[in-house]
Amino acid sequence: MSADLAARRELAFRAAAGQGLIGPDQPVVGLLDLDAVREAAADLRAAFAGPEVLHAFAVKAASLVPVLRLLAEEGMGAEVASPGELAIARAAGIAADRIVLDSPAKTVAELREALALGIAVNADNPQELARLDALVPGSGTASPIGIRVNPQVGSGSIGAMSTATADSKFGVPLRDQGAEEWLVRAYADRPWLTRLHIHTGSQGVALPLLAAGVRAVYELAERVDDAVGRRRITAIDIGGGLPVNFADDTVRPRFRDYADTLRDAVPGLFDGRYALVTEFGRALVAKQGAVLARVEYAKSAGGRAIAVTHAGAQVATRTVFAPDSWPVRVQALGPTGRPKRAAPVVQDVAGPCCFAGDLVARGRELPLLAEGDLVAILDTGAYYFSTHFAYNSLPRCAVYGFSLREGGGGVRFEVVRRAQTIAELVAESGG
Ligand SMILES: *Cc1c(COP(=O)(O)O)cnc(C)c1O
Repeated sequence: MSADLAARRELAFRAAAGQGLIGPDQPVVGLLDLDAVREAAADLRAAFAGPEVLHAFAVKAASLVPVLRLLAEEGMGAEVASPGELAIARAAGIAADRIVLDSPAKTVAELREALALGIAVNADNPQELARLDALVPGSGTASPIGIRVNPQVGSGSIGAMSTATADSKFGVPLRDQGAEEWLVRAYADRPWLTRLHIHTGSQGVALPLLAAGVRAVYELAERVDDAVGRRRITAIDIGGGLPVNFADDTVRPRFRDYADTLRDAVPGLFDGRYALVTEFGRALVAKQGAVLARVEYAKSAGGRAIAVTHAGAQVATRTVFAPDSWPVRVQALGPTGRPKRAAPVVQDVAGPCCFAGDLVARGRELPLLAEGDLVAILDTGAYYFSTHFAYNSLPRCAVYGFSLREGGGGVRFEVVRRAQTIAELVAESGG
């Protein structure tokens, strides 16, 4: 599978250059391997086979309607955290009963809409629960409702992505004084509260820590059921956060590794008493995508070779602003999309933005890049080209999905999102 990923990607780069999807007039595009996305969805289904489960794709990882539609064909629902993400999920045809709303700052209007549609809601905090108290009883809503719990199991390797620290902004902090008792009471008092939700972090959280969080919530579910005297919790939403390997082409850890870790740490989770909800994002699409950008100029400063490309902070925001937490692999390609073979030279790979830190790689050893070459930024199918940063009024780049034709018949591209036009950009800027 990993060898296939790399081989398919190389074919796609050449085909994109050959078909003119990337070139002087389209100097940056996102590419997504649609077959590999389907394979990842199949791996996820297989890993969690057994209990009733809804796999809700975290829309923020790739907020692109055709991608959600493809994942829906693979049986997935959607996890949304804003009115925009909800609208995108619905535009992809995802049914309300396969959508989970998790935002930490839901307005009353958003809650009302979710309840009217029958979308699952996970309340973040006691004040949100009080709002639900005013909206749910007597409403006849079909929405399953839960509370997001912060198990406070600690941080992964990236602080900004770790949601289960002692003082994280997310959820009800389980280990704070009196919190567990408050939670058990909250469920005992409300027959319509039937789910528990947790999401321990995105990227940088190792499997044992993810499993420790799930175990804490599982134990809370048991406590609630004990206190109520019968089965109240019908589903446990274990969130997402399977980390992605950005260092090479192997897919590790795999969904299966995480499910095995959970089977060891929380065996009761899989015995069928609880339905499961998952909310994976990155692990379904990251390694399946790449940014392809043209080298506009190749220069040198202070003895350092610098390739000035069209991929910078607008498509690789986290990498540019937090390079130590989000290093990415960069491949040097010739104008035809074939890998350059020359001896490596230390160089910077810069973006088009007007600030000095706009670099996707610093001091990287790569074949010397020249004007007209291409760079491929790998593993960027999640949170990169789909999560545009509008600095310098750079337009959103086009995104193409690709698949291989049967029998070696070449690469077929389809538009996932066309490039934003300058006219659209002006209109969006109040013009
Ligand atoms: C971001 C997020 C996810 C997805 O995280 P990944 O690391 O992309 O799997 C799932 N659930 C919630 C609540 C999130 O905020």
